[in-house]
Amino acid sequence: MTENPFFRPSTLAYELPPFAEIRPEHYLPAFERGMAEQLAEIAAITADPQPPTVENTLLALERSGRLLHRVKVVFENHSAADTTPEVDRIDAGISPRLAAHRDAIHLDAALFARIEELHAGRAEADLDPQTLRLLERRHTAFVRAGARLGAEQQARLRAINTELAAASSEFRQNVSADSQARALVLDSAEQLAGLSADEVAAAAENGRALGHPGKYVLSLKNFSNQTELASLTDRSVRERLLAASLDRAVDTNGPLAIRMAALRAERARLLGHDTHAAYVVADETAGTVEAVDALLARLVPPAVANARREAEELAKVAAADGVDEIAAHDWAYYSEQVRQTSYRVDAGALRPYFELERVLRDGVFFAANLAYGVTFTERPDLVGYHPDTRVFEVFDADGSALGLFLGDFHARASKRGGAWMDELVSQSGLLGQRPVVYNNLNIAKPAPGEPVLLSWDEVRTLFHEFGHALHGLFSDVRHPYVAGTAVPRDFVEFPSQVNEMWMVWPEVLANYARHHETGEPLPAGLVERMAAAESFGQGFRTVEYLAAALLDWAWHTLPEGQEIADAREFEAAALAGAGLAVAAIPPRYRTTYFGHIFAGGYSAGYYAYIWSEVLDADTVEWFKGDGRSVRESGEVFRRELLARGDSRDALDSFRAVVGRDPETGPLLARRGLV
Ligand SMILES: [Zn+2]
Repeated sequence: MTENPFFRPSTLAYELPPFAEIRPEHYLPAFERGMAEQLAEIAAITADPQPPTVENTLLALERSGRLLHRVKVVFENHSAADTTPEVDRIDAGISPRLAAHRDAIHLDAALFARIEELHAGRAEADLDPQTLRLLERRHTAFVRAGARLGAEQQARLRAINTELAAASSEFRQNVSADSQARALVLDSAEQLAGLSADEVAAAAENGRALGHPGKYVLSLKNFSNQTELASLTDRSVRERLLAASLDRAVDTNGPLAIRMAALRAERARLLGHDTHAAYVVADETAGTVEAVDALLARLVPPAVANARREAEELAKVAAADGVDEIAAHDWAYYSEQVRQTSYRVDAGALRPYFELERVLRDGVFFAANLAYGVTFTERPDLVGYHPDTRVFEVFDADGSALGLFLGDFHARASKRGGAWMDELVSQSGLLGQRPVVYNNLNIAKPAPGEPVLLSWDEVRTLFHEFGHALHGLFSDVRHPYVAGTAVPRDFVEFPSQVNEMWMVWPEVLANYARHHETGEPLPAGLVERMAAAESFGQGFRTVEYLAAALLDWAWHTLPEGQEIADAREFEAAALAGAGLAVAAIPPRYRTTYFGHIFAGGYSAGYYAYIWSEVLDADTVEWFKGDGRSVRESGEVFRRELLARGDSRDALDSFRAVVGRDPETGPLLARRGLV
């Protein structure tokens, strides 16, 4: 039998994991050996008779757990991007054990004593800025994980963390199973009227693949409002599709969400905070619950007013169809009608100009070259984690090799919804590692031989996720703990949102948006009309987003011990209380399928998208101004911000670029909220 491929560092270029050799049966032994190895490394640190030093404690900790890290990053991606029942079982089993492992390190009294001693002596130690920052971040992490609590409290903390980890895994699997179970099965093609021929063919193919030959199946995407709602002409089909989406996992995840929120509130109290939200934001750039409350409160009334104005526009068009009241399942459909009639923008007519390969190479890569000078070479000799995964080598402006970018753009039944970026190898001077990062998207695969044509939103997602990828690729720090995207949650969406600006940057747009058959550019005026139509939809988009952010906030500002009887009722009351109960606009995610906050790292953190957008909108204005070339601005943004990771304070990095504190004006203008 060959050796477990996780047991040694990869010998492939950039330490790319040896995907061709990795089998599911390798995971568990690698996790077990990885955890044991790291605990032995920690024991060696604490057994050292020498007093703690940066080298024997801080950097030894930084070097520990390499095997565990190797298996963890590969496994997490496998379970998100190409899962199987076997991988799901491993995930459910290993998640609580990993939580317990993290606690074993953070609650190791001897280890914390050494960190505490280093931290107490930091002022006299003459540390360089990166080392000082690492020490601060590590020390904070120990304290926030409960290192200063007594034994009894720590025991309770461990129990809570283990239960939460298991609950998270269960929540995610419930969403996935119930999303598949509720996929809409339709008997005839007539019911799909309004969809393109390609979409109808894809639904038929989906029917075959999912065991409904001869029928048409619309699979559910992550968020509440399904994309097909914009074009399905049969109102009853729209209603069924949205209802299926909104009811996902209501029976299983309702009680689970209540339990998780209660556990988080209890944990926050143990750790000295009033609520889970207070605990979370204490370590974010927002700092306090009040700061987040203030931003949300400022945005809600004008956003709702915008949405109501949009609703009036929709009602006019709908009246012609005999629809006297706009329901939630009508909103996207009549928005699309308004876009076509008032703005002369037809979403379907744009697709032929957005062919994936062209958008990727002549848009996303082209923009990165324009701003940062980097170039990309596909490496078909390197094997990705799925046959659809493509591997690109990234080179700096001077030709030196920078890292690898993996792109996995297509949807499949085994992939969770949404789009995301993560790192397989984090950049680190200390460990001599260069970054290997990936993007996962969920673009429907067309019939064989057909081009992959993207929607406007999918183009935006491609640029967005690549912004995260650049954040990982440009990382230039010493310590892996603070590398790349390891910045505060309410800061991490900022670089990715900034990267969206290239989508409509005239030089970039002209380069990629060409008809896939004729090569012709977008018809004149279309982009301007599209921009106008976008601002028309801002009311809906902002309300949909804020409703989800408020839901997250409501669950996580609950004090300890508050009993919640029913998740649906809690949800309705929270939205009404925040002034966000707009009947025809459901939250972007409802509680029971809100994976970001119950199965991911965004609990009390969904506000981060709009919080980051303040920085984003401000930075876009900076990029456009001041007579710098795009390349010059790109260099500053890269050097002062993207390269820094969390090796210095995030807002200090922002100030180093823009030269002042962030201002909200550009965001309010962009969202039509002034
Ligand atoms: Zn993002």
